[in-house]
Amino acid sequence: MSLKDRRLSDLRARIPEIAAAEALALQARGALLVDVREDEETVTGTPAGALRLPRGFLELRIEETASDPTRPILLMCAGGTRSLFAAEDLLRMGYGDVRSVTGGFSAWKAAGLPVEVPPQLDAVQRERYRRHLTMPEVGEAGQHRLLRSRVALIGAGGLGSPIALYLAAAGVGRLTLIDDDRVERSNLQRQILHAESRLGQRKVESGRAALLDLNPTIEVVAHDTRLEAANVLDLLAGHDVVVDGSDNLPTRYLVNDACLRLGVPNVYGAIFRFEGQVSVFGGATPGVRPCYRCLFPEPPPAEYAPSCAEAGVLGVLPGVIGTIMAAETIKLLLGLGEPMAGRLLLYDGLRGEFNEIAVPVDPHCPSCSPGASCELTDIAAVCGA
Ligand SMILES: [Zn+2]
Repeated sequence: MSLKDRRLSDLRARIPEIAAAEALALQARGALLVDVREDEETVTGTPAGALRLPRGFLELRIEETASDPTRPILLMCAGGTRSLFAAEDLLRMGYGDVRSVTGGFSAWKAAGLPVEVPPQLDAVQRERYRRHLTMPEVGEAGQHRLLRSRVALIGAGGLGSPIALYLAAAGVGRLTLIDDDRVERSNLQRQILHAESRLGQRKVESGRAALLDLNPTIEVVAHDTRLEAANVLDLLAGHDVVVDGSDNLPTRYLVNDACLRLGVPNVYGAIFRFEGQVSVFGGATPGVRPCYRCLFPEPPPAEYAPSCAEAGVLGVLPGVIGTIMAAETIKLLLGLGEPMAGRLLLYDGLRGEFNEIAVPVDPHCPSCSPGASCELTDIAAVCGA
């Protein structure tokens, strides 16, 4: 008996296996069916309603869908072998009811059970996204994932400009812009989403026009409104990632607390004169990644927090910081690499230097520690912005 065979018979003795038809019945009763095959294997078809999560991402992303460790999970691969290995890892992670589908997708198809074929890119999309398609880390499946993604962007200003432009260009399928300002001439030194020809327009409308000109195949939803405790959950719900390009502290606290409530990751950035900072906060599981309040528990008194308008900002600086925020957003959407969580990236434009500091989860954080109220409140303007 080879080492592999010995290992498989050991797994078969420990991991419950079920037939494809039984998996379908359990799925109808609420079990999560996960197709762990690679992206190139699932382009021709996958069980209807199954979560497509390639083996390499399984442990990293399963919690985003299966936050309840008691929910039954049914793993499927092509023939029923890789799913056994995958099941062992999920059991080790702490999931209590994990089973492997015997015979995998071949058995599922042979039994005539429902299959769905993921949509294919058309010729124009293929041309537009060619430089993504040739990267194995993105590829056709990754591009589809971007096209299905929904990102909420707070602020269509300095940071929001490069973020929105790069996310639209990358093919993020739905971008929600939230801002209540008008385009003024003094914005144009850094807010490259807008233009002289659109002075006086609402920023979300000017932004929408620029983004659809760049990529008419995406959807841009414009909310010409200010985020408040009363509307923040409605506006941010239903998005995969929230990107905070706002320029004031009350909004940052509100966005942080709302994202924790919604379980959505929050890509944070801030700029000041020649300096900027970036981090990724929160996510599906509370307490795994730190939040904004783990770093800054409460807003500072008003006199210590000058607004961007008072302090000034080098025109290119939001481009540097916003572009990193866009990169973090795309990484989160694609499940690529390591998100910039648990650390704060600092950029010193005058020295041309990046540094980072660790941001641990604060066990007494007023927003994300166990038992924290996470109540949404409108903080009075602390920075005159
Ligand atoms: Zn926290």
